[in-house]
Amino acid sequence: MLPPPKSDRIITHMPKCFSPNAALQTKEVFHPLVKAACQTPREDTVSFNVAKVIVVGDVSVGKTCLVSRFSRGAFNKNYKATIGVDFDMERFQVLGVPFSLQLWDTAGQERFKCIASTYYRGAQAIIVVFDLSKANSLDHAREWLEDAMKENDPSSVLLFLVGTKKDLSVGEEPFTQTIVSSSDVFFSCQSPEQLAQVEQEAVRMSEEIQAEYWAVSAKSGDGVRDFFLRVASLTFEANVLAELEKSAARDGADVIKITSGPKDKRGRKANCC
Ligand code: GDP
Ligand code: MG
Repeated sequence: MLPPPKSDRIITHMPKCFSPNAALQTKEVFHPLVKAACQTPREDTVSFNVAKVIVVGDVSVGKTCLVSRFSRGAFNKNYKATIGVDFDMERFQVLGVPFSLQLWDTAGQERFKCIASTYYRGAQAIIVVFDLSKANSLDHAREWLEDAMKENDPSSVLLFLVGTKKDLSVGEEPFTQTIVSSSDVFFSCQSPEQLAQVEQEAVRMSEEIQAEYWAVSAKSGDGVRDFFLRVASLTFEANVLAELEKSAARDGADVIKITSGPKDKRGRKANCC
């Protein structure tokens, strides 16, 4: 029997999005069918109790620091993913139901763009990470997403576009990151205005690719916990709805596509009624 999750991972309400302009849904409540399902003891909850989440993006954008800030509660710039360990299991309780995120971080393979299809396959959520202080890492976000989507069903995967190193955008620290090539010098942001521009472009891209946009800092911790609670809640909700649909089909009931509610202003499905 697993111990209960930490108290700060108990989710009783849908956590807020980062920016309503670039959110997967702006409703602040779980779907009523999900709430009802969680109140009823079920035998088949196992299938929605875990979600695979993959983290992709250019090398050095801060993927490992983002995951380790959440899982270890600290910023450790020297942390390296242990070779052979593919993912971190993060436990939550959502609406009283145990739920885990399997967070898959690369062990540096992204440097060679040779990530195996097993890494991508079967993801319920894709987190595409870019560095807010490097505009070219946002340009590459689209390529990372395309690669990851080749192994996944676009209709069932949730997308998140995450700008990291937000601490660098508030002028607390000059841009003194390691410059690995001359192209980095060219693309590094030099001013708060340029950073604002990158963020504007990220919001635009997130609307286009139907992703939810977040800006976070693994260094200060700003937004990191809120972000992962949101990922857990949205993947949990999607899993429960999919499971309810499947079991309705199995029982031979009149199946209504539960997720096909009214569409929001950008033509996406509102995930709630
Ligand atoms: P990855 O290659 O995408 O996994 O990147 P890492 O997580 O290893 O981070 C690359 C570099 O960015 C390291 O030197 C980190 O210290 C730095 N870094 C990561 N996140 C942040 C952040 O939120 N703020 C700042 N200032 N630096 C960060
Ligand atoms: Mg890494």
